[in-house]
Amino acid sequence: MTVTRFAPSPTGYLHVGNLRTALFNYLIAHKAGGTFILRLDDTDPERSRPEYADAIREDLRWLGLEWGREERQSQRLDRYEAAAERMRASGRLYECFDTPEELELKRRKQLAMGRPPVYDRSALKLSEAEKAEMRKERQPHWRFKLDHERIEWEDGILGPISIDAASVSDPVLIRGDGQVLYTLASVVDDTEMGVTDVVRGSDHVTNTATQIQIIRALGGTPPRFAHHSLLTGPQGEALSKRLGTLALRDLRARGVAPMALVSLMARLGSSKPVELAASLDELAENFELSDFGAAPTKFDERDLFPLTRAWLQSLSFEEVRGRILALGVPEAEAERFWRVTRENITVLDDLADWWKLCREGAEPLIDEADRDFVAEAMTLLPEPPYDDSTWKTWTEAVKEKTGRKGKALFMPLRKALTGQAQGPDMATLMPLLQKVRARD
Ligand code: GLU
Repeated sequence: MTVTRFAPSPTGYLHVGNLRTALFNYLIAHKAGGTFILRLDDTDPERSRPEYADAIREDLRWLGLEWGREERQSQRLDRYEAAAERMRASGRLYECFDTPEELELKRRKQLAMGRPPVYDRSALKLSEAEKAEMRKERQPHWRFKLDHERIEWEDGILGPISIDAASVSDPVLIRGDGQVLYTLASVVDDTEMGVTDVVRGSDHVTNTATQIQIIRALGGTPPRFAHHSLLTGPQGEALSKRLGTLALRDLRARGVAPMALVSLMARLGSSKPVELAASLDELAENFELSDFGAAPTKFDERDLFPLTRAWLQSLSFEEVRGRILALGVPEAEAERFWRVTRENITVLDDLADWWKLCREGAEPLIDEADRDFVAEAMTLLPEPPYDDSTWKTWTEAVKEKTGRKGKALFMPLRKALTGQAQGPDMATLMPLLQKVRARD
């Protein structure tokens, strides 16, 4: 049974980077008919907020990424303590008293000597008497004692990985104030929840190495790991600073369709082409981690709009009927309105602009050279309401009177009526026009 999890910390809104992780884990579970767990990594009481947890659930639901099970780390602190106790007993978790200042000083010395800044394990040399003295002064923090050997795994995206444990500091699992850190909570959960596959960003590769040892120290079996590349901006620039503006809720507010977003993210950085999928089922069916490469993946939010547009065009009238009626379009006109506008919108909100144009008319766009021509044409245009034949009858009359034809005839009239050079077929738009400001 395949079990995956998405484990965000509820300390902010989800952004496109998180979405990649969520989606990959969702698709793997979905494809295998397994379970996708939403796990809230909320062990940091200061930074975790229930409103962010709610926002995470809301964003995932918007995308259709339903989870079969939800867990909150803050409810499982006793499990982490039990695991810590077992590792203390087996000598893998040791007490340290170094202050942040002392650690920083050591780090700088090591770097100055050209050595990697790996924790020197001085705490292991303390005698029981020394430790007893230290405890009077400060609360200890606890580190996991790595076995100094190579840690190896077959990464689902990066291929074979081998990391020398001696090049990594023994990870702190419990802070001086007793707070359990992510590494410990994560491995206990992954083990106890039967997680079989973990996909996360490549910034976690070193964590994975240490986690593999901790899982084994706790008697568990490491899951399959895969690390996807990090997203960059279109020019390869770091995206981290801009992620704030790439929150899923902002993209939603800008009209991006969920299917556009998941279709892009399920393919970006892979060898398969980006194309609009019909459903998450379809994306899951064709999803293969091995299609993805290790190189940073360029993300351009502008790519979301053609996909959104394609998605909108795939909708039937029934699917948008409610939205259209809500704009105030009369029932009898609604289907025509959709037929006329559907190819001229990028996001659903554009429908409101088209309806405004139909109702109130557009500010005319008239080139200087066409001023007299348009004025003359307007004298031939009757008052609304119009019907299917209005455009043809009118333009023929204008042609007769002015001698203009083709684009020179039609384009200035389109621009005068709609205020823009592109748009729906004028003959079908006319019956919806309730006002023509150029006539006034
Ligand atoms: N809370 C961690 C993060 O958001 C989870 C990483 C993981 O998937 O293990 O980075």
